[in-house]
Amino acid sequence: MDYVEIQGEKVPALGIGTWQLKGEECEETVKTALEKGYRHVDTAQIYDNEEQVGQAISDSDVSRDEIWLTTKVWTSNFEHDSVIKSVNESLEKLQTHYVDLLLIHWPSEEIPFEETIKAMESLVESGQVRNIGISNFTTEQMEKAQEVASKDIFTNQVEYHPFLNQDAVLEKCREKDMMLTAYSPLARGEVMGNKVLKEIADKYDKSEAQVALRWLIQQENVAAIPKASTENHIEQNFEIFDFTLTNEEVEEINELKNENNRYVDPDFAPNWD
Ligand code: NAP
Repeated sequence: MDYVEIQGEKVPALGIGTWQLKGEECEETVKTALEKGYRHVDTAQIYDNEEQVGQAISDSDVSRDEIWLTTKVWTSNFEHDSVIKSVNESLEKLQTHYVDLLLIHWPSEEIPFEETIKAMESLVESGQVRNIGISNFTTEQMEKAQEVASKDIFTNQVEYHPFLNQDAVLEKCREKDMMLTAYSPLARGEVMGNKVLKEIADKYDKSEAQVALRWLIQQENVAAIPKASTENHIEQNFEIFDFTLTNEEVEEINELKNENNRYVDPDFAPNWD
């Protein structure tokens, strides 16, 4: 496993994403991932699976303090008291006393960042949250969030894969010693079949997905959280620590970023840089 070192913390560079995983399937996926060596799990209040994530962690042989656990506050809970109440509920569902990272899931146009961030900071004070972060924030919004926060913002979790340029966000993250957590790192499966990725993959006896993940985690400050429910995919995605892309291959993949394809629902993401 490789790690991203941010603000004195070591975060496993590869995590398991859990969006759209529900019930038994979610529990089994997280259990399998932990058995295969994953130590970073990404969930959110809106995924409606915190209970299953918590059960899988509790049933596993891995101790809680070996796992980097992230959850996210949903937009309906951005007011101060709702942050506190909803995160307490999240912790109960997750069967833990703390999360390693708590994110604002989307920038809000109604509730000022300050109100949500202050509430999140009080959860850091009470020991229920170790680090706070943001998700889907533009570079301008990143600046605003840090201005109103009295603690360092740990990450901006954004869509990032070989078909999307995130140079501006990444540069800002590096400047601020923040992690860029790459969501939809496989472009929701669309990396499969891409000619450039396939050609590189064949050289290493790897798949396009593995090359895309390797390309991400080879970048300073970047962690990736692919979702995989198929056992073979969960396993494959973890087998990316035994090869290194050359600078030339990295450049070839960088070229693909110019496609600038976003797979996130456009209704959710109106004002990107
Ligand atoms: P993704 O990880 O890019 O793609 C998931 C898709 O790729 C699934 O269909 C999966 O299939 C397939 N896949 C996984 N590994 C594969 C492999 N080795 N070979 C071929 N196909 C493979 O997309 P995502 O779920 O949108 O993003 C990942 C995580 O990021 C989410 O689960 C969530 O935790 C987070 N996320 C956060 C936000 C946010 O707003 N902060 C938004 C979106 C996502 P199987 O499931 O069949 O294995």
